[in-house]
Amino acid sequence: MMGGFGFADEDSYKEWTNKKDPVSIGCLTRLVFLKSKDDGKIINFLMTIVGDNNYHHDKASQLSKNSYLSKEKNFSGYVFYHDLNGNFVNGWKYEKGSVVAKTTMTKGGNIPTQLKLATTCTESTVYKWITFTTGWYQTSNTYEGTMYLSEETSFYVPVTTTSCTGDGGGGGSPTVTVSTGGYSPIPSPPPPPPPPLLTKLSKIENVNSLDQTQKNLLETALNELINMGCLGAASYNNLVQTGTKINFAVGGGETASYDPSNKTLTFFNTSSITSGNLQEELFHAAQDAYYPGGTNQYRNVGFSNIEFEAKLYRDIVNIGCCTMFPRLDTPTEIVNEYFLMADQFRTNGYTSFTPTTYNLWVDRFRTYNPGTPYALPKSANFNTTTLINSMLGGCTQ
Ligand SMILES: [Zn+2]
Repeated sequence: MMGGFGFADEDSYKEWTNKKDPVSIGCLTRLVFLKSKDDGKIINFLMTIVGDNNYHHDKASQLSKNSYLSKEKNFSGYVFYHDLNGNFVNGWKYEKGSVVAKTTMTKGGNIPTQLKLATTCTESTVYKWITFTTGWYQTSNTYEGTMYLSEETSFYVPVTTTSCTGDGGGGGSPTVTVSTGGYSPIPSPPPPPPPPLLTKLSKIENVNSLDQTQKNLLETALNELINMGCLGAASYNNLVQTGTKINFAVGGGETASYDPSNKTLTFFNTSSITSGNLQEELFHAAQDAYYPGGTNQYRNVGFSNIEFEAKLYRDIVNIGCCTMFPRLDTPTEIVNEYFLMADQFRTNGYTSFTPTTYNLWVDRFRTYNPGTPYALPKSANFNTTTLINSMLGGCTQ
């Protein structure tokens, strides 16, 4: 053999150390296959039968007669179960062929300590023997062929066991049932739950500092946008398609704002977490990702271009007027003309502005929102609404 391990009880161990009597270290390990009658599943494990000293000196004893399902009538000793990795699982103490206690290894032999609470427990020591092969010799002899002999060294490691009878009583302590003498592995823990499905929000969020209530409102608002269909979902879909992620926060100076310098969408407070605010600010995030160099360069010159396009997007989606011209003193003919123009975008998918028309409308936006940031200077970098054109080009109402 290449080496092995087994167990002996204390009396057998003492006899072995005195006499080196090989019979007293006798133990038998079997590989057991069990097939479940219910589901046909097969489990296998190692069963080691260790006779005590009296058993070994009983002339009638024959270790090999003991199997998983039956034991000799005179069998006294231990039965230990290990899994196929060699880890101790459980064990039983027998006297005259019957189980009298459940055995737990508590220390020694690299076997992890297990705690058992039970009415009656006694600690005892068994000896784990280990054999190492220290050399191989090739010999020629009277047998045909070649025979290999090994020189072996055996030694013992004491292993403390605790044998308990009765059960552990209440209080959630494990129940020790002395009955079967069988293999009783600790049930393996249930598999971890599958990761939660990605929420729609998680596809576009980076750092989200909202509390759970606010996050729920945000998810609701986002779903409202997405349910509006192709036009309403356009800026969200654009962010997802371009892999753009932004931060979400609450506690800013305006109703809602998107800051391109730190990619953060900030709601003023909990009640400003609405689909309307989200619609405009997600569009600003999409602009930031779309226009070369981002939109942080347009905090002053070009701010009117950025806002003009965002308001136009909202008015196209919402079939109305107007976030573009909110003041009541805006000339009615301007408002009406704008309404028809936005409707053209909506019904035709998109309409590309000529630079002249584009600049005319941006100037009107600046003029009729006096004293606001919307009146800030235009940038020469814009002469049409290219992001709207690319986002809405595939949408038909
Ligand atoms: Zn805006």
